[in-house]
Amino acid sequence: MSANGAKPTIGFIGLGIMGRPMARNLLRAGYPLVVFNRSRGPVDELVKEGAKAAAPSQEVAQQSDVVITMLPDSPDVESVVLGSHGVAAGIKKGAIYIDMSTIAPASARKVAEAVQQNGAKALDAPVSGGEKGAIEATLSIMVGGQQDAFDAVLPIFQTMGKNIVLVGPNGAGQIAKAANQLVVGLTIEAVAEALALAEAAGVDPAKVRAVLLGGFAQSKILDLHGQRMLDHNFQPGFKARLHQKDMRIVTQTAREAGIDAPAAQLALDRFTKLVDGGGGEKDHSALFTLVETKAAAKR
Ligand code: NAD
Repeated sequence: MSANGAKPTIGFIGLGIMGRPMARNLLRAGYPLVVFNRSRGPVDELVKEGAKAAAPSQEVAQQSDVVITMLPDSPDVESVVLGSHGVAAGIKKGAIYIDMSTIAPASARKVAEAVQQNGAKALDAPVSGGEKGAIEATLSIMVGGQQDAFDAVLPIFQTMGKNIVLVGPNGAGQIAKAANQLVVGLTIEAVAEALALAEAAGVDPAKVRAVLLGGFAQSKILDLHGQRMLDHNFQPGFKARLHQKDMRIVTQTAREAGIDAPAAQLALDRFTKLVDGGGGEKDHSALFTLVETKAAAKR
């Protein structure tokens, strides 16, 4: 970490829907920031706001005390960290690498081991709270790794989130995130079916949502995604193909843990149907379009 008590320099790789606002919050909090993204647009945007650009990932790591990745999937993280010009090749001794993407727990452990072999520390720290949580710095952050590394970067996490928990060793953050995505995926399906059921049975789904919000069925998903469903606003947000990826991680993790998770498989099948039908780039709340078609046919 930084030697003289100054704020550590943070390298940030992956400036998409989530990474861009998270990086922006770090900049605003006064952290020196070095950024890299596959496409140039978001890099230029953050450079205008005070960040420095560097490429490739090895170079970002060489210039940073803390390196954060926020990339789509396990193969992306593995190539950015383990590739010949990757983070592991450039990371400084004593630096801390944090992957905040949602990836398979086994991949999280693999990249952590690689940076640890080069004298750095590693945390997996996936998030929940969506684009809104990233912009407003209210993300829940579920962390896997060692206590000393967690304590060292807690102020950095607090710049991006609110509910921050060290849940266990490397990989444990990703297991918590798999549990999160299981609940979120199935709740979206339940809200979609509930609103479609109301409509097909001749009751105004907007009124059903409004009354359910005051009872036991209340949830953020009923609130935010229920409204998206009523508005037919499926601009991402969180892309359905990324939630399909997450449900694959959930079902795989359940198999490895030796538990039966039939509802997880159902959610995976629903997202696969949506993605195969051309809805992969839509928001995950577009699961509604699968049930709504049937509700509309009943009208
Ligand atoms: P995104 O597709 O919007 O952004 C990913 C970014 O990574 C893009 O800017 C892309 O150009 C960049 N990228 C991809 N491969 C790269 C590489 N090899 N080198 C450098 N840059 C590369 O995705 P997102 O919605 O920001 O999600 C990022 C991660 O966060 C995913 O794992 C996702 O599951 C997770 N997540 C997303 C949300 C959400 O609401 N969007 C919420 C919680 C967690």
